[in-house]
Amino acid sequence: MSLRAGIVVTGTEVLNGTISDRNGPWLSEQLRDAGVQVAHILVTGDRPDDLRSALDFFAGLDLIVTSGGLGPTADDLTADVVAAWAGRELRHDPALEERVWARVMRVRSRLRGADEEALRAGARKQALAPDGAAVLEPVGTAPGLLVGVEDGPLIVVLPGPPGELQAMWAAAAETSPLRELLAGAGRYEQRMMRFYGLPEPQIAATLRELDPPDSLEITTCLRRGELELATVFARPAWGAYERFHAQVVKRHHDTLFSPDGATIDELVADALAGRTVATAESCTGGLMAARLTDRAGSSAYVLGGLVVYSNEAKSDLAGVSPAVIAAHGAVSPEVARALAHGARWRLEADVGIGITGIAGPGGGTPEKPVGTVCLCVSTGDRIEEEAVRLPGGRTDVRERTTTVAMHMLHRLLS
Ligand code: ATP
Ligand code: MG
Repeated sequence: MSLRAGIVVTGTEVLNGTISDRNGPWLSEQLRDAGVQVAHILVTGDRPDDLRSALDFFAGLDLIVTSGGLGPTADDLTADVVAAWAGRELRHDPALEERVWARVMRVRSRLRGADEEALRAGARKQALAPDGAAVLEPVGTAPGLLVGVEDGPLIVVLPGPPGELQAMWAAAAETSPLRELLAGAGRYEQRMMRFYGLPEPQIAATLRELDPPDSLEITTCLRRGELELATVFARPAWGAYERFHAQVVKRHHDTLFSPDGATIDELVADALAGRTVATAESCTGGLMAARLTDRAGSSAYVLGGLVVYSNEAKSDLAGVSPAVIAAHGAVSPEVARALAHGARWRLEADVGIGITGIAGPGGGTPEKPVGTVCLCVSTGDRIEEEAVRLPGGRTDVRERTTTVAMHMLHRLLS
């Protein structure tokens, strides 16, 4: 990629971990889609010296995007620092102040307690723009800025609240001079393949042997119990990608569940078409139902779910025989099967999912250590069963269990 960018995320609350950064990753994705290579994302507190150092660090790039610090208060100093760094005077724009003021008045009810004087001072501060900068109309109350630097990068200054930043980025990309810069970026394609049950060293060995050309930028990532292989390339490398793709398919067709990047959630949703599903969950406590209903339109096939954490609930709600629990234990293939059948029976669904396991950190035994999960997916006449031992802490085990169940569901239905 010929154009390179840096992202500066400002905000002490992001730096110290109080909130997690939603802007850096989002901007990175937008830039990649626009054909721009992101060199770094840098998080800095609300200190002018640190923001200046961040700009210095990125001085050799083509583009810098900043997030945050455009508010009306004294600790919002991004516009000041960027103007000084770019060698531009800050100028007051009375017409802009009136537009900011109109927006402040619109959200006034949310600013209860702030007196008119203070609000006016804030609007005046937000109407200061570096000389020659292009102003991006406020989405909240803060305007954004496009600031050019002589023989240096173009700086795109955006507000911190993610909804505002996202809307304003769209406007910025249509505004000169960012529009012209992005037009010269060239187009890049990103393709994704997804694997389930393929160890990372295995794909690493494949990549070494296939030795794909440099025109393909390939990254692998383990996520949610699956392995993703992402490839970014410019249009002329299309043929190289097709050859690479065919070789990977040939070697790993048994674990490659998505050659075209579709997620397991999408594949399951498609496979469920015309059928209904219900869950009876113990260790996942409803996470499976939550994952299935995460998709808009899932009401077409999800009927509901039973959260059956205690033995009594398993029997009373899902109809699991207490004798089966006593004979095999609550975490057993027998109980998972009874839960899947119970979910189908209780909710009159075509497909039932039963999940029971030990998420930890307590409750493990030598025969059934923490991470042991028994799952069953059943249509009545067809059935998929698995007993797995998942690694990681409680959150990992619970989350990974839903991925295992999604893949069982996909196998059963396709
Ligand atoms: P405001 O006018 O709201 O002060 P601002 O441009 O000055 O806007 P900040 O003060 O940096 O932005 O952030 C305002 C709020 O937006 C933060 O308190 C936080 O809730 C949210 N926010 C800011 N940056 C991020 C980020 N990187 N990721 C997620 N949320 C963020
Ligand atoms: Mg602020």
